[in-house]
Amino acid sequence: MTLHQRPSLREVPAYKQGKPAPAGASKLSSNESPHEPLPSVLASIQEGLSTIHRYPSIAAPALTSALSEQFDIPSEQITLGAGSVEVASQIIHAVAAEGDEVMYAWRSFEAYPSLVRIAGATPVEVPLDAQSRHDLPAMLDAITDKTRLIFICNPNNPTGTVVQAEELDSFINSVPRNILVVVDEAYVHFDRSAVRADGLALFRKYPHVAVLHTFSKAYGLAGLRIGYAISPTEVAANLRKVAVPFGVSDLAQRAAVASLAAIDELSVRIEEVVTQRERMYEGLAQAGYPVVRSQANFVWIDAGEKTLELEAQLADGGVIVRAFAGEGLRISSGTKEEVNRVLAALPALNTAEVATA
Ligand SMILES: *Cc1c(COP(=O)(O)O)cnc(C)c1O
Repeated sequence: MTLHQRPSLREVPAYKQGKPAPAGASKLSSNESPHEPLPSVLASIQEGLSTIHRYPSIAAPALTSALSEQFDIPSEQITLGAGSVEVASQIIHAVAAEGDEVMYAWRSFEAYPSLVRIAGATPVEVPLDAQSRHDLPAMLDAITDKTRLIFICNPNNPTGTVVQAEELDSFINSVPRNILVVVDEAYVHFDRSAVRADGLALFRKYPHVAVLHTFSKAYGLAGLRIGYAISPTEVAANLRKVAVPFGVSDLAQRAAVASLAAIDELSVRIEEVVTQRERMYEGLAQAGYPVVRSQANFVWIDAGEKTLELEAQLADGGVIVRAFAGEGLRISSGTKEEVNRVLAALPALNTAEVATA
């Protein structure tokens, strides 16, 4: 006899993590910060070590009030999770069930399809346009009476493209007010668009918007697992119900508070990541690779059939990246030395090669 298990999970792939880097190689496969933790953040964690025999506070008062003050948003609309992946999962569970549709662009964040299927809901994937951008008109057309939730990943992982401020406003305005639009801003700190779409401004303006933020990327706390949602009061109340109890550790809460206090130091690091992203983009574009303009902490090479070949070439050069066979590769922006390695591993193509890429 085989054990009873949910048959629907057969379609759910296990989350595929960015590859670990062999010794000496640069791990540019997971969009992590290339910088070691700040001393003040380490000190805040150190202080929390003596109480790890206690459960953390679920309400996380220090962090919640710091965020509430920073954004001028009531605490009741701020909810936490063990990374914004968990927060995205909470939102899906709070809003959608069996038979309901959850829409997002594709390709986008790899966690979306699994999270939606795990919740029993139906993923609706709307292909990116020819410029690897969200196709918002097609997304509007794909709304049905079963649509419960729409994710807009902005900037988009893995392409780095953005939905512009006006486009996003007009899209949200066209979505029925009973469908929640979640703007996933994991990479918002790296966005240097002339007029950056501002998820929080849209949250303030419309009743059916939520924003996802994480401490994993710009703040460099990927290993501690902490992210949060800002959502309408009635949604936030349900997120608290579906959250894993005690999912966010006290160490993570402390480190997040210390990181908010260290924003000046972190901003310098974020600026450096943006500088290296631009260098990597320019270098790859000049070398003839089909690289996409990015506002995140990575660049996307629209390499198509050449993807695995380029992945191997980069690995030979000591650089581990995220490759999606037949589609393209995503290379995180690292230190100056790491970007040098990328550019050395991918020398200039001749035009004939580019045409077939
Ligand atoms: C990395 C990422 C997250 C954040 O993940 P955490 O769980 O907070 O580490 C969320 N959304 C997108 C699109 C991401 O790429």
